[in-house]
Amino acid sequence: MPRGLGAAGQRTPDVVLAVDIGGTTVKGSVFVDGAEATAERVAPTCEGSSSSLDTVLAVLSTLDQSARSLGHEPTAIGAASPGFVDTRAGVVRGAVNLGWTELPLGSILATRFGVPAAVDHDARTAARAEMALRPDLRDFIFIPLGTGVSAAVVTAGEMVVGAHGQAGELGHMPVVPLGRACSCGELGCLEAYASASAVLTRYLTAGGSAGSAADVSRLVGEDRLADQVWSEAVQALAKAVVTLTAVLDTEEFIIGGGLAASGPILLDPLRRAVAEMLGWRSAPVISASRAGPRAGVLGAALLGRSAHLSSAHDDPGEQ
Ligand SMILES: [Zn+2]
Repeated sequence: MPRGLGAAGQRTPDVVLAVDIGGTTVKGSVFVDGAEATAERVAPTCEGSSSSLDTVLAVLSTLDQSARSLGHEPTAIGAASPGFVDTRAGVVRGAVNLGWTELPLGSILATRFGVPAAVDHDARTAARAEMALRPDLRDFIFIPLGTGVSAAVVTAGEMVVGAHGQAGELGHMPVVPLGRACSCGELGCLEAYASASAVLTRYLTAGGSAGSAADVSRLVGEDRLADQVWSEAVQALAKAVVTLTAVLDTEEFIIGGGLAASGPILLDPLRRAVAEMLGWRSAPVISASRAGPRAGVLGAALLGRSAHLSSAHDDPGEQ
């Protein structure tokens, strides 16, 4: 029987429960054959290891019920998680903000809901959405600038995972010699300058008054302190982009996450700084995320769909 065909000869749809797990919220939606079938559900992430897992399970239970109420039986789960994620094993090796260490999230979800479950790093998951929107783009690096900074590296159309599943931890690339202390214990990491939390903290510490990094971005050009903090963030990010370009000859850098919403206030000076530092070669294209804030959920849907297809491929009963 052809894969995906039921007993009556009708194709069984892919019904994916997709969740994007963040440090502050868990977002999820149901996708049927790649199309979103429900409105997005959002729940605040509860603090604590078991509580944050309970939040994820509660959102997925709601999605499971929503799918069934629409007449669809779920076929897979796709989950985007922050932290160090071993995609092949489906294990979150460590997610500080969630209190997770060596959490076998994939098997927990598969057992609870009775469907294949795939788990991947949040940046790599979001990059899947960018890949789907730009199938022509074979060499790019997706950099979400949020509470932290990470990256997804795609070369020759393939996602780079690395030997330990930790490729793309761009936030801890040293960009300022003996610079600011980073949460990882080192000095001068990119994340200590160009994350949304670093931008806000540095502005407040310098004597400014703002409620978010977005507020700081709106003060650029009007406020000397905002100009200084923003400029240092841009320079730090430019150094990372230049280093990666030198190593990988990347065609395009796609900037996502909360800070990407500042648009040309971030991208214009970043393009200029990168071009100035790359006098010896052409500069890569630097663009804003096409998928925007929904990249994580959209990517999780693609992740779940691939889990369903590989599961069906492995199951002789569905050949
Ligand atoms: Zn660091």
